[in-house]
Amino acid sequence: MTHVITSLCLRDSGCVEVCPVECITPGKPESEWPLFYIDPDTCIDCGACVPECPYSAIFPEDDLPGAYNAHGGEYINQVGQSGHYEGSNHHGQPVVLDSVRQLSAGESVDLRGDIASNAAFYKKGPGYGAK
Ligand code: SF4
Ligand code: SF4
Repeated sequence: MTHVITSLCLRDSGCVEVCPVECITPGKPESEWPLFYIDPDTCIDCGACVPECPYSAIFPEDDLPGAYNAHGGEYINQVGQSGHYEGSNHHGQPVVLDSVRQLSAGESVDLRGDIASNAAFYKKGPGYGAK
C-alpha cells in the first residue's frame, strides 16, 4: 500500500521534510501537476507525513474518502479549476495557485481519483517527477 496526497494539497511542503525515504515531490509544471505527489513504489507507509500537512490532504490509500465532507472554506486544487489562492508555505515562502476552488460547507467531494494522479506523476518520465 501507499499513502496518497489528495487535491486538498496547497503545496505547503511540510510533508517533504519528514519523509524518511524522500518519496514526496512537488508537481511540475504546476499547470499540469498542481499538487505534491507520493511515489507509490517507494512509500513505506510510515504515516509520518500525515500530521505535518496543515490541510489534512494526505491519506492511506485504503482510507481515501469517496465522499469527503467539506467543512466549508477549504480549497480543492485541481487542473481545470480557475479560482485564485495566495498563501505561504512551511518556510514562509509565497504560494500562489490559480487551479483552485473553495468548497462549500457540506459539499461532498470524491478524492479517490488522486490515487491515479500520484501514480501517474511518477510514470511520465523526466520533468514529471522522475528522480
Ligand atoms: S504538507 Fe500537505 S499541503 Fe503541504 S505539500 Fe504536503 S500534502 Fe501538500
Ligand atoms: S507515509 Fe511515510 S514513506 Fe509514505 S510518503 Fe508519508 S512519510 Fe513518506
